[in-house]
Amino acid sequence: MADFDNLKQLQELDLIIDGLRREKVNLPEKDKLDSLCKELDRLTNYLSKKEEEFHKVEMKQKKLEGEIDTITNKVKSEEKRLYSGVISNSKELGAIQKEIESLNNKKDETETELIEHLDLVDNLKGVLVKLNNQKEEFLIAKDKLEKKTNSTISDIDIKLDELCKQREETASLTDNDLLTLYEETRAEKDGLAVVELKDGICQGCGMELSAEEADKMSHSETQILWRCEHCRRIFLR
Ligand SMILES: [Zn+2]
Repeated sequence: MADFDNLKQLQELDLIIDGLRREKVNLPEKDKLDSLCKELDRLTNYLSKKEEEFHKVEMKQKKLEGEIDTITNKVKSEEKRLYSGVISNSKELGAIQKEIESLNNKKDETETELIEHLDLVDNLKGVLVKLNNQKEEFLIAKDKLEKKTNSTISDIDIKLDELCKQREETASLTDNDLLTLYEETRAEKDGLAVVELKDGICQGCGMELSAEEADKMSHSETQILWRCEHCRRIFLR
């Protein structure tokens, strides 16, 4: 009976379609891509913190350099005053010398601070270069994985399109009542509505048919629809 053949074909197609849909949802590339994106987010956050830190450190470097410039200019102008010959008062000259000395001390201290600070600037620069390289590598890997995932999905979609067309065609050739029964059973039985009966055992639920039922079945016409007495799945005949 053509309808039974159609049912068999429908079930085969539906199992493949279900499998492909599951495959599409559970692509291992998707998990990899998810964890890669999470790592990339973490790295980007860490990088922006370090960039902020670097910005502060750079500001401090400029501040220290500015302070040294100011002191240097002050020393120059004090020295100019000292040697200008305008001031002859020894007390006043002594005060200028003292001021120059104190300014030079301050300059030394600030320069030492700057040298120490430049170590920090260099360290942070190195960290930023490393993090930016890492980020670049992540972005390349992400791009590659995205392309691979999209191509896998589009391959599956092409197969699904073809199979769904076949399914539609087969369904249109199947008796409406039988099709409804098939769809309802499939919905209730986790996608598996049509099964084989092998050595008296239903291949859907694994239960054995009662002797009475098996006997009735063996004496019935093949065109008659038989369903498992336990799970109500449709038997292929
Ligand atoms: Zn069964």
